[in-house]
Amino acid sequence: MKNQHLIEVLESVKKRDSDQPEFIQAVTEVFESLDPVADARPDLIEAGVFERIVEPERQIIFRVPWVDDNGKVQVNRGFRVQFNSAIGPYKGGLRLHPSVYLGIIKFLGFEQIFKNSLTTLPMGGGKGGSDFDPKGKSDAEVMRFCQSFMTELSKHIGPDTDVPAGDIGTGAREVAYMFGQYKRLRNEFSGVLTGKGLTFGGSLARTEATGYGLCYFCNEMLKANGKSFEGQTVCISGSGNVAIYAVEKATALGAKVITMSDSNGYIVDKNGIDLDCVKQLKEVERKRIKEYVSTHPDAEYHEGCAGVWSTPCDIALPCATQNEIDEASAKALAANGCYCVCEGANMPSTPEAIEVYFANNMLYGPAKAANAGGVAVSGLEMSQNSMRYGWTFEEVDGRLQTIMKDIFASCDSAAKEFGLEGNYMAGANIAGFLKVAEAMKAQGCV
Ligand code: NDP
Repeated sequence: MKNQHLIEVLESVKKRDSDQPEFIQAVTEVFESLDPVADARPDLIEAGVFERIVEPERQIIFRVPWVDDNGKVQVNRGFRVQFNSAIGPYKGGLRLHPSVYLGIIKFLGFEQIFKNSLTTLPMGGGKGGSDFDPKGKSDAEVMRFCQSFMTELSKHIGPDTDVPAGDIGTGAREVAYMFGQYKRLRNEFSGVLTGKGLTFGGSLARTEATGYGLCYFCNEMLKANGKSFEGQTVCISGSGNVAIYAVEKATALGAKVITMSDSNGYIVDKNGIDLDCVKQLKEVERKRIKEYVSTHPDAEYHEGCAGVWSTPCDIALPCATQNEIDEASAKALAANGCYCVCEGANMPSTPEAIEVYFANNMLYGPAKAANAGGVAVSGLEMSQNSMRYGWTFEEVDGRLQTIMKDIFASCDSAAKEFGLEGNYMAGANIAGFLKVAEAMKAQGCV
């Protein structure tokens, strides 16, 4: 990074938020891409856009008390970071995972600003969650937690203010409990959450949207470089919502997906993943991925999730969590002939891993563009709720395909415009940033 103003703003973030390494990592990556933009646009520096965009408009931290099945009081910490509303109401998911703290929510909220902008829909950036771990909890415990969480959150959100959605640990069950509590507290049936069940305002194709969208984006990137999914071997990590529907769409596009994982380990099935089995294990029985091998004797299970990237493949789609591909994993992928990494999870590659991709001329589809399909269909769910109307699966899926195609095109052209052809990470950061920056400048110092 050479622009003096960006260097200074980044230094102040590092000083002020020194205890938030993931947030600093996300800001650094975006600012490095914005170097040529800052040089070309002194008006944005003058308007204080760079200082303002790294500071959330509002952050709410709250106590979430609930009673477990033994009658004991438990206390978790809840978060909602309302990062930027320049182009629309705050929008972004709720993560329920023991690793959640302010720095994780801020990195996710910051990324969300640019991702939402790329979708072309009017959505600002936000994110929230809690250090609550739904794993091993009964349905009744999850319900009591969600009700307590929403009792406080409901004071700060609304269909025109802030519309949360799912993320790690927050699936259909959790969204439904939270929606029920919001409705009861506010006496209002509105589109205040997305990812809702189909019987109460959810959109068809929302469940599939992030995984499908990832493959649509990846397909565009492959096509632009003379390649396709057809006949390719694909490694996917994770076995949650994003991973499952990425396996489904990559397979439909002609690839063979051979791996999936969870936080304990990974499976390799050289015959191609049997997705019906994974759906049953993960979506219905809530079991661990290692159970897969008990019904698939040809498949292997390995303890430890990072090893998944040592499996030879053509295309890698990380769909689990942040920083899951480090430098060593990236080098293993490159050495085994992988030529394309496209991100379903948020910030799954460390900065050193990204350097390895570029050094090996690999195609690299960054998360904020490649996984924007989830929030795009959430935006379509908001539109359907406002219209009191529902589109068919094909209509929503068709719009999703168009959006992902357009996102790839805008990353591609922004990269070319600033002399960085083929660098879709820079393209995504620049294209996502410029729309928000123009809106912030136009609205004055707020
Ligand atoms: P799920 O909770 O449905 O699944 C998460 C998967 O990742 C699980 O298999 C989980 O394993 C694994 N995982 C979680 N944490 C870790 C960890 N620390 N180390 C290794 N594996 C881990 O979440 P989603 O599929 O919804 O989300 C996956 C990623 O995609 C996240 O980065 C999320 O932010 C991102 N994303 C999700 C969107 C959505 O629409 N859902 C939209 C855009 C991005 P285990 O069960 O053992 O925890």
